[in-house]
Amino acid sequence: MDIKLITLMCSLALSPACLAQTYLFKNVHIFDGSSANLSSAKNVYIENQHIKKIENYTSETLNASVEGVVIDGQGKTLMPGLIDAHTHLMLAGLPQQTLLLADQGFINIAAAKTASEMLQRGYTSVRDLGGPVFGLKLAIDKHITTGPRIWPSGAFISQTGGHGDFRLPNELIATDVEHTQAVKTGTTTIADSPADVRKHAREQLALGASQIKVMAGGGVSSLYDPIDVTQYSAEEIRAATEAAANWNTYVTVHAYTPKAINRAIDAGVRCIEHGQLIDEVTAKRIAKEGIWWSLQPFTSDRKSTFSEGSEQRKKQLKVEEGTLTAFKLAKKYKAKVAWGTDILF
Ligand SMILES: [Zn+2]
Repeated sequence: MDIKLITLMCSLALSPACLAQTYLFKNVHIFDGSSANLSSAKNVYIENQHIKKIENYTSETLNASVEGVVIDGQGKTLMPGLIDAHTHLMLAGLPQQTLLLADQGFINIAAAKTASEMLQRGYTSVRDLGGPVFGLKLAIDKHITTGPRIWPSGAFISQTGGHGDFRLPNELIATDVEHTQAVKTGTTTIADSPADVRKHAREQLALGASQIKVMAGGGVSSLYDPIDVTQYSAEEIRAATEAAANWNTYVTVHAYTPKAINRAIDAGVRCIEHGQLIDEVTAKRIAKEGIWWSLQPFTSDRKSTFSEGSEQRKKQLKVEEGTLTAFKLAKKYKAKVAWGTDILF
């Protein structure tokens, strides 16, 4: 792949000047995402952000006059923008401690850089599954800064001590929830009853969430929860799925284990994030019921942000062990799989 050309197309695709213009990408080999081979040399015409025409690149078309911007691809590769189905643009670019302690203005500017770099790597759309991303999305949509299109979840909805409970130990018992850093910034919400979950889901929808993210089981980066715990009762999850369905959208859950996954599906959840510790029966169920499975390539060859021997690293290693099985089962039962990175810290 020719990174330069991909990058050029990405920047053009979302820059304010280009929105209503005509473009010709001349002499490009197209990767269309379904064929294993690149096309022969082509010209691609873009009008009002849509592909209007694709023709063979010949010496006659070389000199044809076109209105708008002509980009000479020089026989390199043109491809569609990539989609990352699981990102956290607000939480990807800084260490966890910094996110918990730093000034929010600094965190916002760092996140703008993360978004811009994401676009330059070829990602034109992301599903952002937790974090105070509404302002960043607005700034991108208004062309104040550059980045991919964002489908935001807003704050994680978590039970006390769950995977989305980022309150520091000294904030956990003594402090009013609303005044803790992680809640105040809109990174997470803590809800511990069906009524609370319903209210918090509605709040995030009102703020512009395109889907709701609920923490349904233990996670790696969180401080309090072992990886194999199940979080929320079916009634609590159902409160969120009802609120989302009323808003014509859906709930997706963070869940690794069969117990957490099955409870979520029982409560009306239509999308599972992760699932690395799944078993065969549950994988079969996901496929049969048409539940979306958002999988990430968590493998031990990537550099860990957690120190060796720490509780978080131990949890991470356990999850990484399951990755291969999860992908095998997803393939075996032809589950509907979405691909994401879940880059954090
Ligand atoms: Zn995540």
